[in-house]
Formats: sequence, C-alpha cells, structure tokens
Amino acid sequence: MIFDKIFGQEQLTERLLALIDGGRADGSYLLTGTKGIGKWAYAFWYAAAYCCQSDAEVPCGECKSCRAIANFQHPDIQLLFPFPNLEASKKQVTVFQFSDPNSGAKFSKATAEEVNRFLEEKKADPFRIVNFEAKSNIPAEVVRDLRKFLSLRPMWGGHKAVIISDIERMAPRCADLLLKTIEEPPKNTVIIMTSMIPEKLPATIISRCKVFTLKAFDDTLLKKYLTSLKLESKSNIHFLSRASGYSPGMARLIIEENVVENRDMALGVIKSIAGDGRIFSKILNEYDQELVVSNSSVDMITLFQWILRDLAVLKNGGQVDDIINCDRPEILSSSASRISKENIYRLIEDLNDIRTAVGLSNVMPSTAVRHLLSKLKEGFSAKASA
Ligand SMILES: [Zn+2]
Repeated sequence: MIFDKIFGQEQLTERLLALIDGGRADGSYLLTGTKGIGKWAYAFWYAAAYCCQSDAEVPCGECKSCRAIANFQHPDIQLLFPFPNLEASKKQVTVFQFSDPNSGAKFSKATAEEVNRFLEEKKADPFRIVNFEAKSNIPAEVVRDLRKFLSLRPMWGGHKAVIISDIERMAPRCADLLLKTIEEPPKNTVIIMTSMIPEKLPATIISRCKVFTLKAFDDTLLKKYLTSLKLESKSNIHFLSRASGYSPGMARLIIEENVVENRDMALGVIKSIAGDGRIFSKILNEYDQELVVSNSSVDMITLFQWILRDLAVLKNGGQVDDIINCDRPEILSSSASRISKENIYRLIEDLNDIRTAVGLSNVMPSTAVRHLLSKLKEGFSAKASA
C-alpha cells in the first residue's frame, strides 16, 4: 500500500501526528523542501492521517477512508497539481475529481490522460518526480472548482483534506482566489500546500500557514529507497546521494536519465582540456553536438558546476569524501593540480553567467557550449599557481 512507501521524515511525522492528537490540526499547511525530497508524499500521508477513522496508529491503511485515498478515490480528499493544458481548444472533460462535470472547468482528453498518468506514477512511487513535456501550471478555473468543493459539506460527514502541490505554479493572481479559504478553512478541514520555492509565494499565504520543511535523506535512507524500487544502478551510492542533494526523487531521475554517462563525458572534457590544450579543437567537434542535445534534468552546465565545485574543495585541502564526484577521484585530483584556485572561482562565475544567458534565451545553446568550452580552456591554460 502507498503509505508503506512513504518514509524518511520521522520528526515531521511526529510533529504532524501531535497536531492531530492535540485536536489542533485544522487549518492550512505549507510543506517546503528541495526537488524530489517528498513534499507531495508527506502532504498525501498527512491528508490520509487526518481523515483516518482509526483510533490507533494513523494512517491505519485499513479503514474505509485509508482504503479509498490509497486508490485516490476518497470523495473528501482532493489533489491538485500543475498540469499541461494540451489541445487547449478541445474542452471535453473535467480532469479533477473535485470539478463538477456539469459546471466545472473542462479540458481535452489528452490533458485528462496526463493528469491520470501523474496520479498513477505517484501511486507507484510517491517520491517520484513526474515531469510533463509541455509547460504545466495550475489554472484559475480549477482553483475556482476547488474553492467550490471546499464550500460543500464532506460527503462522508467527517474530515476533509485538500492538497495543492507546487503552489507557486498557480496562474497569476490565483492565490487571491484562495486567500480567504487558506486564511480560514472550513471546520474539520486541512489545506496542505507544497512549494519548492516558498520565497516566491505572497507573504499573505505563508503567514496563514503552519510551515514545515522536509529534511534531506542520508545514505542509508537513500539506499533503502532505491532498493525498494529495485532500480538497477551502476552509480556509486555516495555519488548519487551528493549529486541528488540527498533527495530520493532526484536520485531516481539521475539513475533513469543516465546522468552518470553525461557526467563522465563532462569529466572527459575537463581531462582533455587540463591535459593537453592542443587537442582542444578536436574536443569541440566531438562533444559539441552531445553537449547541446542533452536535455536531461541535470544539464551540462550543472555537471560542470559540480566538477568545478569539487576542484575548489580539493584545492582547499578537502578530501575525496567531501566531493560530489567521489567515484572519480583520480581525474579530479590530477585536474585540480592543473588549475589555480582563482581560475576555478572565475570559471564558476562564468558558468553562472552562461546559465543566466541561456535562461533568458539571449544565446543559442550551441553558442553557449562553445563559450563554455573556451572559458574552460582559458581557465586551465593559465599556469596553476595557487
Ligand atoms: Zn485509516
């Protein structure tokens, strides 16, 4: 059952259960934390615990409420999350349970399929980062539907819970629609919101919520999670932990997207540039294409940032245990001896500039890669002094 798949935040669960036990649970919540850390999983877990009908340990997994929500079929627990609006002109069906089929917001069947895919993937692995190819957000119409749902009495006469994921991705001004409800949710109701970037939220929302931040996993928890998925990985667990920022969802993505292969390619580039500047033009030709077409969640600029960060750590007397790419110590140690500290820091800044330029669409990705490689060459060709 889905509840067995949610673990790793003992302190958080204790604090949340104490609120339920003390009769202080009603109201609005904001769960924050890094990407893939389990915000959705714990919002879901808490909604189930809040509505659980058992007197013993909650969520019990056995009562009518728990069994219904485990299949996403609870009439009083509703989930809202950003989704893509595909084939926007075809308004055929409602895509969320809380939308009234007669009067609610309608979308295309393709959109409904994507919404269902999200739920199926979360059911299989609540920590999973579910990406949509098309741009996704939470449109105003469904927020209105949700507000209407919140104004109705619970179907089963007990508690009601609403989860709104990635609340910063609501359409502009949408928060205003919910503000009153967030400030004063109906009796016996919780509204649980999640956000990776709470600093982007209006202060009016945050000030009305009980805010909890999810903690990073450690190696043991991460291993437990990856083992439970039976994911075959050639990646070193220490590398996965660090590269993912100790986030289970990110670790899964890193394995599935073969980030290690791209990382090794980036290391290969550094090795060649640090070793022999003369073959630079060859590298440009060989790697250019692959660097550009890599559309993995962890992009090439990030991979080079990891490497430069590692070089800085080693240069400052850090150990292999302190670096992200701890599974490739030789390349990093030998590259570190060929660049000065100053140049490493300068390169880190250059990379940030390139990232900003790409983000603003001021430059073509291929131009950015050429720029990045020539900066790296500059950085390594100056004599290593510090
Ligand atoms: Zn239960």
